[in-house]
Amino acid sequence: MEKILALVCPEADGTLGRPALEAIGAARDLAASLGGPAWDIGLFGASVGKAAGSVGGCGAARVYGVEGAEFADPRYGSDAAAAEVICRAAGAALVVAPGTSRLARVAAGVAHRLGGRADNHVTALEAHPDGVFISRGFYRQRVEAVMSRKTRPWILVLEPGSRAPAAAAPGDAPLEMVPAKAEGRAWMEGFREPAAGGRTIRPDAELLFVAGAGWTKKQAGGQVRAAEAENLILEFLSKTRASLGSSKSLVDQQGEGQAVLSFLTHLHQVGQTGSTPRHPKGLATCCHGEEPHVVGWRFIPQRRAINLDPNCGWAKGKADVVYVADAFEVMVRLNEMLS
Ligand SMILES: Cc1cc2nc3c(=O)[nH]c(=O)nc-3n(C[C@H](O)[C@H](O)[C@H](O)COP(=O)(O)OP(=O)(O)OC[C@H]3O[C@@H](n4cnc5c(N)ncnc54)[C@H](O)[C@@H]3O)c2cc1C
Repeated sequence: MEKILALVCPEADGTLGRPALEAIGAARDLAASLGGPAWDIGLFGASVGKAAGSVGGCGAARVYGVEGAEFADPRYGSDAAAAEVICRAAGAALVVAPGTSRLARVAAGVAHRLGGRADNHVTALEAHPDGVFISRGFYRQRVEAVMSRKTRPWILVLEPGSRAPAAAAPGDAPLEMVPAKAEGRAWMEGFREPAAGGRTIRPDAELLFVAGAGWTKKQAGGQVRAAEAENLILEFLSKTRASLGSSKSLVDQQGEGQAVLSFLTHLHQVGQTGSTPRHPKGLATCCHGEEPHVVGWRFIPQRRAINLDPNCGWAKGKADVVYVADAFEVMVRLNEMLS
């Protein structure tokens, strides 16, 4: 029977985030559908005791850990070294890891060191008489393939948001610490964030808030109200911890010398030439809802939009609810209600 390992990292506060719990749930369910081979959890980070205790009762046979100050920050050399020794200690044939930036960055390198293979953008795992099959996206997730591999170990990088997380199950599965040596010459010195807004892309947020170019267009009084828009959006984001997305038109304006929202970059762009995030809900504001933008919403099940134009794209079957209203007024009211 093939051994399965869920390989995850605790957050800075020592707890496990949603993507990690999804990977643990996927490993557990895969083991059950394969007829119950032993499955393990591997953890690495500054300290793994708290995370191990929070999932020790969810059925894993063992919990392997690598911890220490040198494993606290995401860094290729230390993360790959920790992941490699954990995979070797567990003797895992199938490794399920969450598609966070931290694990996605090292998955291919670790697979290479182990003589295995890695696949990212995995959205489903299935036991089949002919082996384990995965569904994964290719070509910016526009093409979905169902595929299998014979090579082991096989590292499966699970797309965050593609399944339910494992429920917290505190318990004391045996925690086995594995010695690891952090490699590499690069060290993390700290975070530097844009002056305004801080971190606004939050892949595991419940809500995606999309800002469109309308925020920086002349409004009813004939004025551009971009500074006011910035404040309203940042207030909303800080109150809801929503993730921020943007239309292409809005992020492109920076290069054209027009009014912009200072905290937006091209990383925020959602759509055909942007990202396809997975959040349970989305709210589009001052965004027309044209197809090249909405195609980036295909994994967002509950959609709402605020637009002055009752004939905007969202109203043509692309959103569940369209509020025909001035987004400035709605956001003022919404922020008041959230206070
Ligand atoms: C090859 C190609 C690839 C593309 N890829 C992408 C992509 O990845 N992502 C993407 O987003 N776009 C993409 N586009 C561009 C896309 O077609 C649209 O041009 C773009 O999404 C429009 O952005 P927008 O809706 O923010 O702006 P606009 O079309 O200018 O819409 C602004 C909206 O704001 C509304 N509005 C203004 N003021 C208010 C107010 N006070 N309250 C409420 N509503 C208000 C207006 O009614 C209007 O509907 C692509 C285009 C091409 C050709």
